[in-house]
Amino acid sequence: MGLLDEAGLDRLVTAGCTSCGGNKLVFLTYVDGLLPLMGGEPVGKITWVYDGEKFVDGVYEVSCDSCKKILFQSSICPRCNAEEKLDDALESENRWTVPMSCPSCEGEEVRYIAFLPARVLYEGKRAEKARAQAELDDEGFHGYRVDCRSCGKVAERIDRCPLCETPAPLRARPG
Ligand SMILES: [Zn+2]
Ligand SMILES: [Zn+2]
Ligand SMILES: [Zn+2]
Repeated sequence: MGLLDEAGLDRLVTAGCTSCGGNKLVFLTYVDGLLPLMGGEPVGKITWVYDGEKFVDGVYEVSCDSCKKILFQSSICPRCNAEEKLDDALESENRWTVPMSCPSCEGEEVRYIAFLPARVLYEGKRAEKARAQAELDDEGFHGYRVDCRSCGKVAERIDRCPLCETPAPLRARPG
């Protein structure tokens, strides 16, 4: 688990801001997005492929939308929990080569799955749609899996944490 669990999230959104009493909270989380690629170039928008438990597991900051008070903050790597590795994940570029084609069948159409920071606004317990905070070539975007549209084969990065390069094995994720 990360530092926040679902009960913790519930407590935060129920309490609202402890400083100004506002009920709109901004959650920053590392979650999974899927990007369709053709010949190594994005050919569509990122679609989210995470569930509620993974959302909570990846949360690294919660703040008040109006007065900006920080209500929760963590500096560990959101994927592997390595100490003080959050900045490394956010400030480094993708270290896993974006494939020009499928490593097995050479098909050009693949789905590239990555961890990227997302921003979600909560109003009370109601969450808005997640907004991506990084695109393919931006700092903070880290690929870890390729699914081929034609042969279905998967290449997955398992030797190191995709976010901070800590050597495997990585902790299991919930969900
Ligand atoms: Zn506030
Ligand atoms: Zn890590
Ligand atoms: Zn293939």
